[in-house]
Amino acid sequence: MKIKKLPAIFTPARPVLQKIEQAGFEAYFVGGCVRDTILGDPIHDIDIATSAYPSEIKAIFKRTVDTGIEHGTVMILDHGTGYETTTFRTESGYQDYRRPDKVTFVRSLSEDLKRRDFTINALALRENGEVIDLFDGLADLNKHLIRAVGNPDERFHEDALRMMRAVRFASKLDFVIDQSTLTGIRKNAPLLAKIAVERIQVEFEKMLLGQRPVSGLKDFIATGLYRYCPGLAGQKAALSQLLVLNNWQLENIQQAWAMLCFQLGLSNKQVSSFLKRWKASNNLIRQVKRIVPLVSCLRERSLDAMNMYNGGENALHDANQVAKLYGWAKDDAALAELYQALPIKNSKELAVDGRALIADGQIKPGPRLGRILNDLTTAVVEGRIANDRDILLTAAQQLAKEKG
Ligand code: ATP
Ligand code: MG
Repeated sequence: MKIKKLPAIFTPARPVLQKIEQAGFEAYFVGGCVRDTILGDPIHDIDIATSAYPSEIKAIFKRTVDTGIEHGTVMILDHGTGYETTTFRTESGYQDYRRPDKVTFVRSLSEDLKRRDFTINALALRENGEVIDLFDGLADLNKHLIRAVGNPDERFHEDALRMMRAVRFASKLDFVIDQSTLTGIRKNAPLLAKIAVERIQVEFEKMLLGQRPVSGLKDFIATGLYRYCPGLAGQKAALSQLLVLNNWQLENIQQAWAMLCFQLGLSNKQVSSFLKRWKASNNLIRQVKRIVPLVSCLRERSLDAMNMYNGGENALHDANQVAKLYGWAKDDAALAELYQALPIKNSKELAVDGRALIADGQIKPGPRLGRILNDLTTAVVEGRIANDRDILLTAAQQLAKEKG
């Protein structure tokens, strides 16, 4: 097959490949960018594979950076853009089910394509548009099929992460996993336990954010992969309920994790420990802990001014997207309007602060001051009192008397 007109993203890279070819070597675009070109999907980065060894690439181009030279990756700098090129290689060993013991540079494209995970990811593209398809990847792209290159059992045994990649591509592309590949996953699922959580997390998040998450999630559950992921082992029933929700699509990772935590019925304390096991960042944990309670409010129709104030604008939006899956959401614009109508959006907008109350002479620093400020904030947020300095100072004096 020959592609007549390559997408514009390839244009500036073509001279780089031509230059490698002129020096007597082979060079191809490989991996996701070829797959996405044929599917007509957006391409985010381009990978180049070559028969030239790193030292040979460095002899051809003046400006290069050794970005991963021990794996054969060199970045070529050309007119201000960097192009990562990786020497054709084979991998062997895989004693630990995750990383090859040995990477060997080779001159043959077919050896390089053979070590790739799925047929749709094992296509190569010449700079002139010619597609090299040694494993029927084009037919599988047509059939919307994820199929391991070679023997699935062996391939998953070599690198257990590939099983998570299978379900993430099923979701990302809305493809189906081929039967024998699926059997290979079912058989080798326990090997996922050998893989670092950080690497599983990357694929898991991509699965949850794919074009059709249910497509990958269904096999993630059916093959038993979920059992080897943090905090999911006993959760088949709860996870399966996600499959019957409307064909959902979420906008960001905090929504995805909030949906999952909500679906698992986790308290905010449990959310922290669950997400820590997944090696989530503190920032993500903070966001999810704001979203989950808001989803509950939307379900119970108990969303009020104080919930919105505490959650904040972004969490409110995220919670509404999660609630949408369950049919509990409010209209996005109406919700944004409700939020905008809050008298204050954060404590800095309150017309008095602790210092003002102390200066007023009625209240001393301490926990009581904090409680009074909280009461004032709630009263302002709920619209029971105006956000006016004098009015708030008078109210504070009153509260100070009442609270002794
Ligand atoms: P994306 O568009 O999400 O980046 P991608 O196909 O480019 O998809 P990458 O993770 O960037 O995925 O990997 C690039 C290529 O490297 C893949 O297309 C595949 O050919 C190969 N590859 C990546 N990870 C593995 C793996 N674990 N086993 C075998 N081949 C792999
Ligand atoms: Mg990629």
